[in-house]
This record gives sequence, structure tokens and C-alpha cells, in this order.
Amino acid sequence: LSAPNDLRAFWMPFTANRQFKKAPRMLVAAEGMHYTTSDGRRILDGTAGLWCCNAGHCRPAITKAIQDQAAELDYAPAFQMGHPKAFELANRLVDIAPEGMEHAFFCNSGSEAVETALKIAIAYQRAIGQGSRTRLIGRERGYHGVNFGGISVGGIVNNRKVFGTLLTGVDHMPHTHLPGKNAFSVGQPEHGAEIADELERIVTLHDASTIAAVIVEPVAGSTGVLIPPKGYLKRLREICSKHGILLIFDEVITGFGRTGAAFAAEKYGVVPDMITCAKGITNGVIPMGAVLTTAAIHDAFMTGPENLIELFHGYTYSGTPIAAAAGIATLDTYREEGLFERAADLAPYWAEALHSLRDCPHVIDIRNEGLIGAVELEPIPGQPTARAFQAFLDAYEKGIMIRTTGDIIAMSPPLIIGKGQIDELVGTLRDVLTGLK
Ligand code: PMP
Repeated sequence: LSAPNDLRAFWMPFTANRQFKKAPRMLVAAEGMHYTTSDGRRILDGTAGLWCCNAGHCRPAITKAIQDQAAELDYAPAFQMGHPKAFELANRLVDIAPEGMEHAFFCNSGSEAVETALKIAIAYQRAIGQGSRTRLIGRERGYHGVNFGGISVGGIVNNRKVFGTLLTGVDHMPHTHLPGKNAFSVGQPEHGAEIADELERIVTLHDASTIAAVIVEPVAGSTGVLIPPKGYLKRLREICSKHGILLIFDEVITGFGRTGAAFAAEKYGVVPDMITCAKGITNGVIPMGAVLTTAAIHDAFMTGPENLIELFHGYTYSGTPIAAAAGIATLDTYREEGLFERAADLAPYWAEALHSLRDCPHVIDIRNEGLIGAVELEPIPGQPTARAFQAFLDAYEKGIMIRTTGDIIAMSPPLIIGKGQIDELVGTLRDVLTGLK
């Protein structure tokens, strides 16, 4: 297997493409913790693909489930017909979700899960006689995918500014209220409740009767692994409950064991009204997403006012048989191998290994939870992102896959990682950091 010679037609729009075409790095195979490159090198996967292959790569049971399903029932029309595996997967998801999450709506990605949850929130408020509640609240540095709703509530200005107004009636809670200090790091003082009170300020500004939902990632992943300060999520829950605002946790990254629990909601002891998930639901192998909701939300759609029952939302591939089969086999693998518990057990070792990098050159912050972590580097003046991107290139040359966002190095290894591989990952990163200009 080698790299293709002709790269002309392939296009990944916007930023992803530019680096890709300059220096195409091709992966041609994968197994367990490793990728194989087109030039025959083995790369230790420190990012579980894109935060998704939580059980590692090319797991035979998942592959077989997909093959068997493709041979038996390849597709069933999503709206008129059911098939057993979609029902089974929904039940299995609800079984591992926090108490109170009782229904699953299937879609095909994290972005679609977010759009679905935002629409459910506004429609649900209307169903219960709160039709003026259409405003949505996200957070600075929140990432909720790339569709119009997701970039509107998302907190990454660069992802939305060229598109103009987007969804109107969106506010963003601040990422920190401490000037110059990242409140979403580890070992911060217990000021989470105080930061969450920024939500009260927004509620006061617009009046609760206009606000449908708040959406946050419990641990923000893509923007650099931001750990909620103590008490933050609990306080958000209290404020939302007090004002009749729905709380949505976007667990596209934190779902399926990443923080050492099935969902971060369980880890932090806070139950939202909806959870969006994707990625690890099928071990990243087949596109799938889901929105988990409470019975109250589900019931409003099933028995609510006529206009809500008639409202259409769903995708051609919602709960498609092959994705559902992949999802069931994935959940089997997580359970049989105890991977969520394994992530919790390995978390202290992971934390110690990561924090051993604190004396390396350029390191200004280290953050971790479960089996996710980040090392933030001091930017080169006038060249933001350059230092971390160089770290990514050097790491790849030395045989490890990391991910960078701005000047932050992020890691989220498959939950099957062993202690020796944590040492290899972090040891190689140490060499990389030591060699950086
Ligand atoms: N929400 C969160 C929290 C994510 O991390 C991501 C993807 N990184 C998404 C939504 C979007 O998921 P997808 O790329 O599958 O559309």
C-alpha cells in the first residue's frame, strides 16, 4: 500500500485542506493502538483518530458486525420502517447514560446531533406553552460542529465571522472572568460557581422567558481540553432549572469513557436535559450521532400539540442498520473489556505522566481528566500556532500522533492504551518539546 500519486481532485474545504495538500501524510492501515503510514512506519495513536476510536483500531468484533449487517439488512427506510438493531442500540445507550436520559434520537455526526438538540429545545419550549423561548446560549471557546446552529452557539469566532448574522438570539458565556488567567485549567481555586453566575447575568439581560437552552461541552475538547472549574457545571444546572432553561451537554468527545465514566455528566454528577454524542458511539468507524433526552422532552413530541407532532426532523441515515450494528458491537467491546473503568484506573498514571512535562521548554499549562489531556505552549511572538504545529510534525516523524489547536497540544489515546504506551507517548513528546525552538 502506498500513497496515491494523483492528489488533484481531493478537496477538504477551508483550513483543513491547506496543510493537507502541502504535505500529504497518508495512513494506509491501522490496528489497535497503531497506524501504518504509506511509507511503512508505525505511529502510536495518541488521539484515538479524531477523539473517536476509543476501543482502538480495526477491532475484529466491530468489523465483523458491520460485515454481517451489510450482508443481512443493508438499509431500512428511516421514517416508515424500524429494524431491531436501532431499538436495541437506543436501549443500550439509555442503559449506560445518566439516570433521566430515557430516549435516543439518531443522526450521523456530532454536528447533526447539535443541530437536532437545538431544534428539539426550541420546539419543546413551544410545546409546553413557552413559545417565546427561542434564544440559545453557548460559551466562548465552545465547539459544537460546523453546521449553522453549531457555529452560532459555538465560541470560535473564526468559524463564523464570514457567514454574517447566523442564528440570531445567541449569547456566549465567558470562558473565564479572571483577566489573563485560564480558569478552566486543573488545580484552580474553587470559583466554578462564580464563573457560572455569568449565566445569571445573561438571563437578567434578556429575561428567562426568552431563553430556550444552554449548550456546553462538560470538558471542551477541540479548543484545548478545558476542564470545568469545581462547581461550574452544578451551578449551570441550578441556574437553568431555576429559570426553565434546558441544559444540553455536548458529549461528542467526552462520551463513551473518555473522562473515566460512560458520560461526563456522570463523572461530574450533573444531569442535563439532553446529551449530544457521536464519535465513540461506533468507535469512530461508521458515521453516527445521537441525542439523548429526558422522558419529558420525548413525551412532548409524542403527545404534544398538533403542530409539534407534525414537525418533521430526521435524516435518511438516522439509525441505519449498519451504524446501529457497529454501535452495538462497540458498546459490547467497551463493556466486555471494561474500557470506561480502565480509563478511570489509568487516569492517575496519565495525569502524572503528563504533568512530568511541566519543566519542558515553552510549557505554560498542562490539563487532564480521565484519558484526555493537553499541554499548552507559549506561542512564538507574532507566529501563533507555529510552535505547536512544529511539535505535531516532529512528533509524527518520531512515531506518535498528537493533535494541535492553536498553541495547545491535545491528546486522547484509545482507552486500550497500556502504561508502557503512555510512557512512550509522553516520553516522545518530551523529546519533541526539548528540541523545539
Ligand atoms: N461537538 C463537539 C463537542 C465536538 O468535539 C465535535 C467534533 N470534534 C462536534 C460537535 C462535531 O462533530 P462532527 O465532526 O462529527 O460533526
